[in-house]
Amino acid sequence: ANIFQTAWTGVNERTFVAVKPDGVQRRLVGLILNRFEQKGFKLVGLKLMQASEGLLKDHYIELREKPFYEHLIRYMSSGPVVAMVWQGFNVVKMARKMLGETNPADSLPGTIRGDFCVDVSRNVVHGSDSIQSARREILLWFRQDELICWDESAEPWIYE
Ligand code: UDP
Repeated sequence: ANIFQTAWTGVNERTFVAVKPDGVQRRLVGLILNRFEQKGFKLVGLKLMQASEGLLKDHYIELREKPFYEHLIRYMSSGPVVAMVWQGFNVVKMARKMLGETNPADSLPGTIRGDFCVDVSRNVVHGSDSIQSARREILLWFRQDELICWDESAEPWIYE
């Protein structure tokens, strides 16, 4: 079955997560991948890329009126990012919890932002904020043939 034809709900729910340029520079990629793997989510897409200004402007289109918008686009294009797609039950909501709040000052210890950053404009990682944004962002960042459908041997130990 084509991954874009299957329903993006239940255990097939997907979200878009990206390690931002500061996260890559600070060698946090492995650690962030590890947290999602350990949680029990399935990796279905992964790539290192230098995001173009066009892609980033599209990605952050809803923030185009914000005073920090241009600054944000510059930050996000200042180096490579690691784009990933994670799949699993409630993955959109749980990934946001694992990331912490937008502002690291409001993020609890134990979250990625709570543990690894202090500045809202250097907050290490992105995660889609809803199922609808996840779908839009995945379609924006990944081609269809870059998302892999695979059987995970641990699945019966992650889901009853
Ligand atoms: N951001 C910023 N200054 C602000 C608010 C946000 O630089 O005052 C940046 C920050 O990197 C954030 C991104 O803009 O992650 C997108 O903001 P959004 O409100 O969508 O937060 P997110 O969904 O990333 O938590």
